[in-house]
Amino acid sequence: MFLKRIILFMTVFTAAAAHKAVAETFSYSDERFADLQMLRYQVTGFEQLTLRQKKLIYYLSEAALCGRDILWDQNGRYNLRIRHLLEGIYTSYRGDRSTAEWQAFVTYLKRVWFSNGIHHHYGSDKFQPEFSEQFLREAVRQSDLSLLTWADGQTSDALCAELFPVIFNPAVMPKRVNQADGEDLILTSAENYYGEGVSQAEAEEFYSKMKNAAPDPQRPVMFGMNSRLVKEQGKIRERVWRCGGLYGQAIDRIVFWLQKARDVAESDKQQAVIEKLIDVYRTGDLKAFDEYSILWVANTGDDIDFTNYFTESYGDPLGMKASWEAIANFKDKKATERTNKLSSNAQWFEDHSPVDARFRKDRVKGISAKVIVAAILGGDLYPSTAIGINLPNSNWVRAEHGSKSVTIGNLTDAYNKAAHGNGFQAEFVIDASTQKLIDDYGDYCDDLHTDLHECLGHGSGKLLPGVDADSLKAYGSTIEEGRADLFALYYLADPKLVELGLTPSADAYKSQFYTYLMNGLMTQLVRIEPGKDIEEAHMRNRSFISHWVLENGRGKGAGGSDVVALVKRDGKTFVQINDYPALRNLFGSLLAEVQRIKSEGDFDAARRLVETFGVKVDSTLHREVLERYKALNIAPYKGFINPRYEAVTDSDGEITDVRVSYGEHYDQQMLRYSRDYSFLPLVND
Ligand code: ZN
Repeated sequence: MFLKRIILFMTVFTAAAAHKAVAETFSYSDERFADLQMLRYQVTGFEQLTLRQKKLIYYLSEAALCGRDILWDQNGRYNLRIRHLLEGIYTSYRGDRSTAEWQAFVTYLKRVWFSNGIHHHYGSDKFQPEFSEQFLREAVRQSDLSLLTWADGQTSDALCAELFPVIFNPAVMPKRVNQADGEDLILTSAENYYGEGVSQAEAEEFYSKMKNAAPDPQRPVMFGMNSRLVKEQGKIRERVWRCGGLYGQAIDRIVFWLQKARDVAESDKQQAVIEKLIDVYRTGDLKAFDEYSILWVANTGDDIDFTNYFTESYGDPLGMKASWEAIANFKDKKATERTNKLSSNAQWFEDHSPVDARFRKDRVKGISAKVIVAAILGGDLYPSTAIGINLPNSNWVRAEHGSKSVTIGNLTDAYNKAAHGNGFQAEFVIDASTQKLIDDYGDYCDDLHTDLHECLGHGSGKLLPGVDADSLKAYGSTIEEGRADLFALYYLADPKLVELGLTPSADAYKSQFYTYLMNGLMTQLVRIEPGKDIEEAHMRNRSFISHWVLENGRGKGAGGSDVVALVKRDGKTFVQINDYPALRNLFGSLLAEVQRIKSEGDFDAARRLVETFGVKVDSTLHREVLERYKALNIAPYKGFINPRYEAVTDSDGEITDVRVSYGEHYDQQMLRYSRDYSFLPLVND
């Protein structure tokens, strides 16, 4: 009851605000459900864009929303029908909305919205409703049936018979992406990239034949990435996602908006990028897609940029078929100045690094990374999203033409703001003076650490002649991430950064040193289940760096103190840093050693370092951290509500301004998207 009243109130409020056209004020969201929290992000700097740029963002944002249903259908063949059913009930249910079962129904619908389907967006397991089948059957009867059905004469009984097993039976489509070794990964996964009855063996055979017949084996297209593989009359074939093909109804709309975007492009180069993308959508030709990627990666001069296509393949158990996603963004010029400053001083950093001169680069090229402001998120980037993107994915295109690396500044900012005041730091930071350092410099030094890591760290150093780049094998990415982190940590404390105007004070780095070790020694364990080891490469690298300095700093601090210590206060464990300058020297020594390991390809030393310091978890400390974290009741996953763009037109229909507003609530946004951007039939078999 309470929930409904708020929704009604907000509807009225938003409508009024839109009419008055003063909807530019930004407010944060704190909506929570299940293990999720919805945030808003601010499109800082949008008002300063030119009218032409605003139009471009507007058209690209429309294009970014038109593919929504494609992703839903890719994630599972019943998703669109289930969403239709649930939304119909949500908007027309005549029964009591104050019951616990109704609340459970609303939570379930929001989870389905968040995951773009019925499986968890991260774990990919089907979530079980916390209301009964009887409740839903009764809810169907007490709702407007014409809103729930999709075929003429469909009865409520037929509707329930078709969808209820998918919703309620845990054995039906239990996992979206199954990766259990030894099972038929396609037949046991619920994703919709492979049609009924296609087996893993059949799919693998189909694509290995295709690969073997490739005309240019040095430059292969990304086979299979833009189609569903189906079996028809016993024959395996692809149904390509393109105009006139599968999902053509939505793709036509995407193309419609891309054509408008093309006409207001910022440069000829950008125009050519959009033109090529339209061509790819029309033909589904993967060679054209590679050509598009090459044009896109070379287009770095414009303020506005975007992606809008089938991109990442995490949703396919075979890792070939790409989910549809889109983002439109523009350069954060101020923050990009920061990365430019680092890139243009790359040689200085290389020459002064604490590694052996034999492992340094004579001539280093800073990677040009930029910081962007996200203007809209669509498809697989919505509402759960990445904060950094590095594309394209084609290996040969990356090797020959490079890649674009971006950090999405306004999303990071929104995450940071949400993290403040959630009690996390109050629980885990040792004392008020350290907390003050983090309050003053924490967010900024986090960003700077990321910049140093991306722009300089990864690009620094060299392999000795004859050393195989893959010699560290399974430890390669952990060592590489550790190397970039250490480079960043070491230089964060360098006076050079103050001199370049990149750090506000000579003490600022301490905030990052503290939060880094707090994370590596303790708080990152909240993502590990009890009894498990650390597996993910970034988590392993933070762990090995933190534990190495803990061990190697014993008795080496000022006055014989430990440089870093784990201390107990009122029965709780805290990280205590006793000597910051000495800690910097330890980071420098470890950087020198890690660079040696990399440059010489010393597999044994890499294994020893990672296995000794990076993998194992102290079970007592782990239990303590989990308990303290649980008491804070923080949602482990977060997603974003998009801003809303409205074109203001004159009497001739010409756009004279584009306004951005933020007042929409998550359910309002979802219902609006379903109303305005549903271009696909509910059944796409
Ligand atoms: Zn990295």
